[in-house]
Amino acid sequence: MRLARFVLPLAALMLGHAGSARAASGIDAALGPVRGPLHIIGAGTGCIVGAEQLPHQGPGYTVIRAPISSFWGAPETLFGVETLAAEARAAGLAELYVGDLSGPRGGPLSGGHVAHQRGVDVDIYLDMQPKPDLSPATLNRLTPPLVVPYGATQVDPSQWSSATVTLIHLATELPGLNRLLVNPVIKRQLCESVTGDRSWLHKVRPWWGHRGHMHLHFACPAGQTDCVDQAPIPAGDGCDASLAWWFNPDGSVRMPPPAPPGAKPPTLPVACDAVLGPAGAAPPPGAEAD
Ligand SMILES: [Zn+2]
Repeated sequence: MRLARFVLPLAALMLGHAGSARAASGIDAALGPVRGPLHIIGAGTGCIVGAEQLPHQGPGYTVIRAPISSFWGAPETLFGVETLAAEARAAGLAELYVGDLSGPRGGPLSGGHVAHQRGVDVDIYLDMQPKPDLSPATLNRLTPPLVVPYGATQVDPSQWSSATVTLIHLATELPGLNRLLVNPVIKRQLCESVTGDRSWLHKVRPWWGHRGHMHLHFACPAGQTDCVDQAPIPAGDGCDASLAWWFNPDGSVRMPPPAPPGAKPPTLPVACDAVLGPAGAAPPPGAEAD
């Protein structure tokens, strides 16, 4: 019951809109999770109580770059990864490489990920080649191939096949999936090549980067009233002016807009101070961490 006393005040702290005084950086991943009922806080930036860790290997998948990645998330997110891996295997696809989920308490990851803060995001690589049996040491430093090489205006044909399309399609149909981010070149490739049922293209959204992986973003799990979902995706398959916006006249992808002068890094919700603890400090009182 110590946890109940700890968790309930967090909801009270969610009142008001002021951000944490601490910039969203420098979370100590070594602290481990805060045990307790699932409690996801925030919109974009945020934190999580009750996160679970994805096993580093499971049927149809293995994580990569484990020493510099984090594999914690809401149970719904872990279920999504395991479901996708099982479905991909059943469809005859190659084993999946899984990248970052979130830190054990959420918050910003050391690699600069702005998302991945609340246990509802995961990166899945689009490498559909048969996977050799690699040693843990090799997996720990693996860099899967890019589907959209830097400077390219088309997908690399050697890294694109019907298997890639099948994997993305399967991912869009996972329970609770809110949206799926890929490089605009990948979105355009899908728009130009998918025939028949195109309704699943709706959840495939273009974004910067994502040249070799897709980012799965799950909706806030049921009952998570302190977790704020993103705005709904506009209706349609997205193969329209909203996609064309991403491209320069020469077919290259736009550069991200520069940050406005004086822009501050995104801040965390105040309630996350109690979950994450001050940077470098001991776990918050009442928290059971490991
Ligand atoms: Zn991601």
